[in-house]
Amino acid sequence: MSEQRVVIVGAGMGGLSSAIALAYQGLHVTVVEAADAPGGKVHSREVNGAHIDSGPTVFTMRWVFDALLRSVGTSVESEMRIKPLQVLARHFWPDGSQLDLSADARESEAAIAAWSSGDEARRFRDFCKTTRQLYATLEGPMIRAQRPSMGGFMGDLGFKGLGVLAQLGPMRSLWQQLGQQFSDPRLRQLFARYATYCGSSPWESPATLMLIAQVEMDGVWSVEGGMHGMAQALARVARRHGAVFRYQSTCQRIEQRQGRVSGVHLQSGEFLPADRVIFNGDAGALRQGLLGEDVRRAVPRDAPPRSLSALTWSMHTPTEGVKLDRHNVFFQSTYASEFEDIFERQRLPHSPTVYVCAQDRPAQLAPGLAERIFCLVNAPACGDGNGITEEAIEQCQTRTFQHLQQLGLSLQPTPANSLRTTPQDFHRRFPASGGALYGQATHGWTSIFSRPGSTTPLQGLYLAGGSVHPGPGVPMAALSGQRAAEAVMASLASTKTFQTGATFGGMSTP
Ligand SMILES: Cc1cc2nc3c(=O)[nH]c(=O)nc-3n(C[C@H](O)[C@H](O)[C@H](O)COP(=O)(O)OP(=O)(O)OC[C@H]3O[C@@H](n4cnc5c(N)ncnc54)[C@H](O)[C@@H]3O)c2cc1C
Repeated sequence: MSEQRVVIVGAGMGGLSSAIALAYQGLHVTVVEAADAPGGKVHSREVNGAHIDSGPTVFTMRWVFDALLRSVGTSVESEMRIKPLQVLARHFWPDGSQLDLSADARESEAAIAAWSSGDEARRFRDFCKTTRQLYATLEGPMIRAQRPSMGGFMGDLGFKGLGVLAQLGPMRSLWQQLGQQFSDPRLRQLFARYATYCGSSPWESPATLMLIAQVEMDGVWSVEGGMHGMAQALARVARRHGAVFRYQSTCQRIEQRQGRVSGVHLQSGEFLPADRVIFNGDAGALRQGLLGEDVRRAVPRDAPPRSLSALTWSMHTPTEGVKLDRHNVFFQSTYASEFEDIFERQRLPHSPTVYVCAQDRPAQLAPGLAERIFCLVNAPACGDGNGITEEAIEQCQTRTFQHLQQLGLSLQPTPANSLRTTPQDFHRRFPASGGALYGQATHGWTSIFSRPGSTTPLQGLYLAGGSVHPGPGVPMAALSGQRAAEAVMASLASTKTFQTGATFGGMSTP
């Protein structure tokens, strides 16, 4: 057993993945977490005794967790119960039309032919081919790799990969590119929404974000016990290998001595000595000096543009009207205005698209039975300012539920059946974020190069989470945690204090 002590600040997806990988290697791992449970943004809220997933609800890229758990001698099936969903999402438009996107692309194609036209169905088939190629091209150099440099990235793409990107027109925005792919504006709108999965505007995101469509088409799973159950399962695995979790323990300062990290000070006054520290909070917290002056310069000084925040409602209530599936999206007819409101005017959208997650579906429910519902509208990440007033929130709530009503879904939040979460609440929970839920916005095609990587200029300090490479989302944050663990192991191997030839998530350590 090595004497190496690692403190991980934060039990989000990044921190949990690092903890599993490093505890398995026999390092002394302590996870300090401000909240009273693991998961970070993966969390649930309790309404009338019902636990409602109130963070991420879409579980994709299960290969990330397959590889992580396999590398420590277990499997996804042994640790949690997950089920593939047949319907990826049900979409509703103000003209009364409705489209299910299915896990089986041929079923989606047939549905599009009936709902739009045979030509549009062919375009969808071409779109699937493009996204498949794009994903295959970018998975290695962009998703699996340690933080890429522009030069290294181009080299890794190779001749074939560059050809795929050139065909796509990487300088185009996602919105522009989708205009070339589809004639039916509803499909353009549907696939443009994938930009919001990493907290960005389709008008400013690069066309390469089309690969998120492929991520979904590769499969969406539901987790028994909810996504927060998955976080608990990961914490259990880490504990089994010796990691110690300390909840309700806020790290106030990361200390350095003689140019390298020496430990963390907790709010309680306790000092935990450490040889390595992995910070899993928002990288902005380091930049703003919230973890002390010593580590302020561990991340680039200039703050990048923030990603989306959200206004959400966790509800336990019966629904009436349209038949919901598990994931449902209610579109507006004016799409651009939503992103202009949020990113340009920094205000809640006047005409929000509404995401409704019906967490007890697709099972048939008896009429009148209360079900677990999570509603989300996108919002600006200005939860640390005075921009979003209580009045603006009330107005947005009224418009959100009026919109659902107009599209046929009767749902009304009351203090008795729901809990609301605002950008201010998210900011309080995730310090320095302003409520941004996905780190920095992926705006502009070079943005992937501007996220910090897992290593920092301060020896012994590492980063993991949605605000660092490879970016936001549950599986991506988990990957970043594995990259941080690899970097820790590589530094131990290079200082000859610890030798290993171990693999994390299927990749061998240098
Ligand atoms: C409403 C919502 C919907 C989302 N939808 C999806 C989705 O459907 N699919 C998807 O893949 N992703 C989705 N996401 C994004 C996804 O949840 C995140 O990208 C991912 O979970 C972030 O993980 P992380 O490793 O960055 O850690 P975080 O979740 O950010 O957790 C960081 C942890 O660090 C702790 N911490 C921070 N500072 C300190 C400190 N000083 N001391 C102690 N502890 C500290 C915090 O308390 C927190 O628990 C959604 C997020 C939200 C909130």
